[in-house]
Amino acid sequence: MTGKTHAAAGAFLGALAGKLVGEPYLGLALGALGGLLPDVDHPGSWAGRRLRPLAVVLEALFGHRTITHTLWFALALGAAGLFLGAPLGAVLSAPAWLCALALFLGALSHLALDACTRSGVEPLAPFLPWHPRGPVATGGLLDYLLAAAFVLVAAGITFKF
Ligand SMILES: [Zn+2]
Repeated sequence: MTGKTHAAAGAFLGALAGKLVGEPYLGLALGALGGLLPDVDHPGSWAGRRLRPLAVVLEALFGHRTITHTLWFALALGAAGLFLGAPLGAVLSAPAWLCALALFLGALSHLALDACTRSGVEPLAPFLPWHPRGPVATGGLLDYLLAAAFVLVAAGITFKF
């Protein structure tokens, strides 16, 4: 999936989580970030361009769609969200768990979307050899339709229309 689709799906789930505590904007932003971060293993991705040295090392050592495309990485992002959430939550009067949940859900949506593509992902590697994949072509019509749908529902949740 494209970065746009990942950001939109993460934003949707993050906004949904944020809505529960009256913080849809924070949820939206962190959900989108969580949706984009798993592609830090690809130097050409949004996250990879911003963290290029890390992206180059990850790609050289492990390849694309490996350790950053696992449930364990999503959980690690959630844990990082708890630490990020403490100071951010104090400034914005938002609970730290929201930061954790939004980042986790964003990363989880990334796995689900990439699992729908032809290359698929191995979300439970190296413990379980499960490799879900689907028919969706990255950058294809369905990819862009999904991005548009997620943008609409995320905006609807966040801006109440
Ligand atoms: Zn990916």
